[in-house]
Amino acid sequence: MEVNIIGAGLAGSEAAIYLANRGYTVNLIEMRPKYQTGAHKTGLPAEFVCSNSLGSSDTLSASGLLKEEGSRLGSTLFKIAKEFSVPSGSSLSIDRFGFCEKIKEIIDSNKNINYKIEKYDKIDTSKPTIIATGPLTEKELSEDIKRVFGEEHFHFYDAIAPIVEKDTIDFNKAFYASRWDKGEADYINCPMTKDEYERFYDFLINAKKAPLKEFEANYFEGCMPIEVMASRGIDTLRFGPMKPVGLFDRRIETEFKKNQFYAVVQLRQDDKQANLYNLVGFQTNLVWGEQKKLLELIPGLENAKIVRYGVMHANTFINSPKILNPYLQTKKYENLFFAGQITGVEGYSESIITGLYSAINMERYLSNRPKIKLSQDTMLGSLIAYITYDNHKKFQPINSNWGIVNGIDGDKKKLKDKKYKNSLLSKRALDEIDKVKLLLEEETK
Ligand SMILES: Cc1cc2nc3c(=O)[nH]c(=O)nc-3n(C[C@H](O)[C@H](O)[C@H](O)COP(=O)(O)OP(=O)(O)OC[C@H]3O[C@@H](n4cnc5c(N)ncnc54)[C@H](O)[C@@H]3O)c2cc1C
Repeated sequence: MEVNIIGAGLAGSEAAIYLANRGYTVNLIEMRPKYQTGAHKTGLPAEFVCSNSLGSSDTLSASGLLKEEGSRLGSTLFKIAKEFSVPSGSSLSIDRFGFCEKIKEIIDSNKNINYKIEKYDKIDTSKPTIIATGPLTEKELSEDIKRVFGEEHFHFYDAIAPIVEKDTIDFNKAFYASRWDKGEADYINCPMTKDEYERFYDFLINAKKAPLKEFEANYFEGCMPIEVMASRGIDTLRFGPMKPVGLFDRRIETEFKKNQFYAVVQLRQDDKQANLYNLVGFQTNLVWGEQKKLLELIPGLENAKIVRYGVMHANTFINSPKILNPYLQTKKYENLFFAGQITGVEGYSESIITGLYSAINMERYLSNRPKIKLSQDTMLGSLIAYITYDNHKKFQPINSNWGIVNGIDGDKKKLKDKKYKNSLLSKRALDEIDKVKLLLEEETK
């Protein structure tokens, strides 16, 4: 049976090798080097466009656990990454050219893979297809995705505010409330005095920004980063995302003092379990170190753990919660799956593992076997649950982090020790992954 895989990036290459190794004929369609993306430099598959690091390889870290899950499920790319690793402490970093040349060799030597240098412009749902064209999906295909799924189900770039872990917020300073007490007290509010605001403002307007590439700047005007808003005047933020009116700290006895705040930073729930909160209106292009310092100037967030920094960059992604089911298959066409960064995951490792997951489920769909769904005890299951959760206020891409994983019961005192807690979380995840691994292995015997 034939499967089309569009895009020989990280996700597409992983998916192609998985399906080809299981006897499917794979048409792996890649437009480079005939057409370039603006970020890729070579015509090789599985190119790392920027840094050469896949993040931590320690299974007590979210990123390390994700890679271990992928490795146990049979990822070829993680295996080759380890073979081409370069020294970088506890991170997995690679010799990027050696890595993509090896992947090219694996693809070329697999008789089940037809590697085609073509630009794919129009979705063909008559053939089983995985779209893995990444954050820089070519224009014609982007237009076609919009045509098939609707304009509102397509995004061109990330303008993301930092996301922090709720448990690291200081609630002696922060308080829950909704503006004018409307509905539930859903927001976390960090109030500022005039002095605090001025200190914060001074830092913000002088903070170092990350440079925007030309292809990113095209999308820039549509969304205002907080530092650009701030540059329009000292009070712009106080009349915008940081306006203090209608926010009452009910813990304060004196009626007069309840809302005498000069400015307020609001945080909105970001995940189902309410572990993660994003800073409302704080989309930013500041370099990450400066974002950390900026948050330290917000009362209540001095020690907040940032699980995802704000970014602004070209990033094509679909509205997965509306378009995909938990197998990365489209709800509209059984034959059509997505994988990689275009699904709304973010990062090299996340793209690779969703390529594998999409291919596993494509294979099971084509062979009439029950598809695989992992629980939120695993990092992969949690990522998939996040991107297919249908009730986000505003869906934005996510990378692996502990905040999206199910909590764990046990001795509360002991669980305060992060290392101890993560070792339990990691073991629980890998036990589940091992069961799936066994199932996949037994079926191919
Ligand atoms: C500028 C930039 C920098 C990044 N830096 C990092 C980083 O440092 N660390 C990190 O973890 N993540 C980074 N990412 C995010 C992400 O991890 C990478 O983009 C990753 O390569 C995504 O994998 P993918 O397989 O989804 O897409 P890609 O690896 O981009 O693969 C998609 C492939 O599809 C091809 N393609 C596109 N359209 C078509 C078409 N119509 N027809 C045929 N082929 C097509 C492309 O040429 C490409 O080869 C970055 C993203 C960008 C945009």
